[in-house]
Formats: sequence, structure tokens, C-alpha cells
Amino acid sequence: MRIYSFPHGGISYNDPTAPSKKSVVNAYLPSLSVIPIGKRIFPTISIGDMVREGMLIARATEAGTVNVHATVPGRVIKKASWKNRDGFENDALVIRMEGSFEKLGKREEVFPWAGLNCYDLQRIISEFGIVEMEYSGRPLSEMISAGRKENDKLTLVIRCVFDDPWHVADYALCQQRIKAVVEGAAIVAKASSKVTQIIFAVSHREKEIGEMFIKNSQTLEYPAALVLTGSRYPQRNNRELELALRTYEKKEELSLGAFLILGPAVLAAVYDAVKFKKPILERYVAVGGSAVRYPQVMKARIGTRIGELIEQCGGLTGKPERIVLGSPLSGREVSYLDEPVGSTCYAIVAMAKSQAKIYQRQNCINCGECRTVCPIGLDPQNIYKRIRTLGIEKTGDTGCHGCGCCKIVCPSSLPLSEVIFERNTEAAGA
Ligand code: SF4
Ligand code: SF4
Repeated sequence: MRIYSFPHGGISYNDPTAPSKKSVVNAYLPSLSVIPIGKRIFPTISIGDMVREGMLIARATEAGTVNVHATVPGRVIKKASWKNRDGFENDALVIRMEGSFEKLGKREEVFPWAGLNCYDLQRIISEFGIVEMEYSGRPLSEMISAGRKENDKLTLVIRCVFDDPWHVADYALCQQRIKAVVEGAAIVAKASSKVTQIIFAVSHREKEIGEMFIKNSQTLEYPAALVLTGSRYPQRNNRELELALRTYEKKEELSLGAFLILGPAVLAAVYDAVKFKKPILERYVAVGGSAVRYPQVMKARIGTRIGELIEQCGGLTGKPERIVLGSPLSGREVSYLDEPVGSTCYAIVAMAKSQAKIYQRQNCINCGECRTVCPIGLDPQNIYKRIRTLGIEKTGDTGCHGCGCCKIVCPSSLPLSEVIFERNTEAAGA
């Protein structure tokens, strides 16, 4: 079977400190859960109230926000606020676990969805606060609306591209919940009303996942195809994935329309919301890094503190020099082990000094590696130099999408991608 890839740049990225994809451990239920709520979301409960598992605790108020639900039963004991390393403020409700679970371990009522129309399905997706569970956490209902409004024809793409070992949690999810992912895809396709076909985009080294998708999609109402992609980072990025899929479209003489690209985690969440009336209560997370004794993939409740998960991995081998939520290439650095697992947290990486050292900056040695790997052909060294040494405030739209390839290969550990992407974003917003 042919393998489709993006034409230029990229890197082969491996990290031996990431957990193996062979097993998944259920994390303990947290005695204290820290449930993130955004600044623009209003609690529907008061401090001191008892809440049930899955109960609405904060309601979305405007575009970009979603309803928030309790992930454990218990008493809301306080509101917590803290600042990220990048200065953004966070708010959360802290729930002390008490009482019994309504859903965990119980036989659940199944709600058929075949008779529902696209608006009914979208309303359920919105009501249960389903978000894109990888990058921005954008409300899925808004993605569906935009896709329906802006396009006559859509192809739903299920992204299972493993160009980065820190996405191993998606692999574990597919192994355990492939039927839920496939049915979730069918629900989203119907909710959108513009989807005419489904593509499972799977990196060729994980071909077995692709074969499982095809086997489980025989009864779908939509034509479904498997497209094998390359494994070079950033093949998973929307831009690079679209490039590969457009090559496939041309080669097969198809007309795919626009792409709605979603990961398996959000599709499994859609399945739970529509079939079982369940919000996002848990997610698969890769926990590792050189400071973690026994890295592993865990299924954890949303709101579990990352320190608790690390403890269940045998604890730390020493004081971590750097902690990142998400991949070290593109994730968010945090300072506290009390930070909670949110719906977009697919990895927790705690690095010892030796691993964190690759992020310590030195002077550029003009090796040219950053130019070689940039998938869109930029000269990151030059742009970075102009911004940092000449103080250029706005670069104009360079097209940089922050993939991080330039940063990871830079032997001087310069923060190329952050600086270039940040200025690009400022330019775009200017
Ligand atoms: S300049 Fe931007 S697009 Fe190019 S490698 Fe760096 S982060 Fe990726
Ligand atoms: S990879 Fe780093 S050291 Fe090499 S040219 Fe680019 S900025 Fe300079």
C-alpha cells in the first residue's frame, strides 16, 4: 500500500523516556479533583454543595467555552486560581470525593441515535461539553457548525498519525476502544450533515490500527478508506496531513472537499456523550520523562493532579528540572505538580537535568539544521536573528505553524519555534 507524506523537511523523532504502547494502567480515583473552568464560564453550584458524577457544575456562556461537569461525586470545597508559567490565569473547582459513583462500574442505559437528526446530535455534543482533546480544546459543536456553514462537502479524517512517541495514549485508546471511535466518527459525520466520506489516516508503522479501523467500519453508512501516512514529525500537523491527503486525492482521482480532522479521543468522547449521556470523565495520558521511575500510559479521571499520576508511576527519581504537559516539542511548561489533567492533556513529561539540558540555550553555530527540517521551507535561523537581534516586532505572516522541528534539531537549543510562531501570531492578529 502506498505511503503518503509531506514533501519537504521534518524530523524522525524518538524519545526513549516515553512509555511503551503495550499496556495501559487505570489510575486510582483522586481523593481531591481539580476541575478546570475557564474565566468566561460560570459555576452553577456553590462552594460546599454536593455534586454527582457527571453533573453540570459550570455553564458555557459564550463562543469558545463549553459546559463543565464533575468527574467524581463529592463536595465542592473551594475555588482555586493560579498562574501558568506563561502568565495565563487558571480557575478550577476543587471537589473532595464523597458518596457513590453513578456511572463507574454500573451497567449503563444505551440511548439509540439513529433516529436523531444533525441538530439533535450537535445539541447533545454541545450539552456534554465535548471538545477537541489535543491542542486548543476548541468546542466540537463549533467545529461542526463552521464545517457545515463553510463547505458544501466534507471528508471526516480520523487522525492516528504517530510521528511523536508522546502521542502513545491515542494508540492505547484505539487498541481498547476502536468500536467507540468508529461509531463516534459516524455520529460526527451525521451531525455535520456535509460529510460524504471518512478517511482513517494512520502512520504506516501502526498499520495494524488502520486494519482494525477498516474491519470495524464495514457497517458504516459512509464510504471509509484507510490512508497510510509517513511517520516523520510533523506529519500529524493539520497542514502536513492535508498535504499528504491531497496527494492521495490526486493519485486516486477523488474529490474529497474540505477536511474535518479529529483525533480518536474526541470521537470516543462523542460516542459516550450520545450513547450513554456521559460528559468527558477521563482520558488516556502518557506519563513519563527521565525523572519518572516507571513511565506508563494511564487512564485517568479529568481533574487528577499530575503529581498523583507520577506517584503511581513509581514516583520521581529526583527533582524534575522541567515538567511539560503535552509533547516536549509543543507542550506547555508547568511549575506545579498540583496541576490537573485537563481534557487536552495527552502527556505529562517530567525531565531530569540531563534531558532538560537539551533546552539550555547557547549561541547559534550556523549549522543550518533548522533550514533543512522546516517543512514549509523557512530559514528559522535568519528569522530568529532578525527578531532577537534587530528587535523586529512583527515578521508578517511567515506561515510558521509552530511545529517545533527547528527547535528540536537546533544543537544550541534556541527557542526558534516559540519566538517565530509567537511573532507570526502577533502579526496575524495585528
Ligand atoms: S520555522 Fe515554524 S514551521 Fe518551520 S520548523 Fe520552525 S516551527 Fe516548524
Ligand atoms: S539549527 Fe540552531 S545552531 Fe543551527 S543554524 Fe539553526 S539556529 Fe543556528
